[in-house]
Amino acid sequence: MRVVTKISELRDEIQTFRSTHSDAKVGLVPTMGFLHEGHASLIRRSVTECGLTVVSIFVNPLQFGPGEDFERYPRDAERDTALAEAAGANLVFMPAVAEMYPRPLATRVLVSGVTDRLCGASRPGHFDGVGTVVSKLFHIAMPDRAYFGMKDAQQVAVITTMVQDLDMPVEIVPCETVREPDGLALSSRNVYLNEEERVQALALSRTLSRVKGWLDDGLSAQETAERMRQQINDVPLAELDYAEILTFPELTVPEGQLTSGTRWIAALAVRFGRTRLIDNRIFSGDEVSAHV
Ligand code: AMP
Repeated sequence: MRVVTKISELRDEIQTFRSTHSDAKVGLVPTMGFLHEGHASLIRRSVTECGLTVVSIFVNPLQFGPGEDFERYPRDAERDTALAEAAGANLVFMPAVAEMYPRPLATRVLVSGVTDRLCGASRPGHFDGVGTVVSKLFHIAMPDRAYFGMKDAQQVAVITTMVQDLDMPVEIVPCETVREPDGLALSSRNVYLNEEERVQALALSRTLSRVKGWLDDGLSAQETAERMRQQINDVPLAELDYAEILTFPELTVPEGQLTSGTRWIAALAVRFGRTRLIDNRIFSGDEVSAHV
């Protein structure tokens, strides 16, 4: 595995690979580093489907708002390269901020509609930063496939919309959320949690695991979201950011019942002290018994 920090080096490596493997696919796994099993699952998936797997590790200042955790976001380049290599990556791209943004950007990629709610509403500008950096990474690496975790389901919706709207020749591959044995979704931010917060953070996955039952009982989207809010508000250290049920992948407010052929997302964002955690589950009308 090679580690490169310059855009030109990454382009050269990929160009060399493509010139010698004309049929092979190039897979890209964009990350902000401090890699864990969730990232590793994306890398392994790319390795099984592509001849060359590129992992980008870049804490993108553009997607952090003022007062968010850009400076203190956990970083460990040595551990990350070891984990990427163990998962089978061929190339790691670790640019400095000045390499990606040598001057203030005059150009941004803004995706509207799917960014109106959830993290798009509670982190203004966040998805502008995500759309812009992912679009830069796509132009730099020119991957055939790019792998994204459903842990960040709204990000998948945003990137898919961007790729469709701008005819970017890359296939977006959504990958399942990897969880701790007790249900907590893996996240680089989990290291911020103290012992007590770590225990109470189970409220997210526990609440989401109850949603199917509420939908099975025939509760509406609004009633179900209200139940989710109550569950989180019962947890002493939890401060609710949002709990919503929306259509997926459109991310609009559902009307009526979840019917066959449609999907809803139950999405949560909850703060424990300065740590903001998100999690979600997707439900299809075909698996909810009250409505099939
Ligand atoms: P991040 O480094 O947090 O920006 O995440 C990089 C990629 O890994 C994104 O596509 C995330 O959705 C994905 N990812 C993060 N956590 C998980 C997880 N627990 N399971 C699966 N994918 C994940």
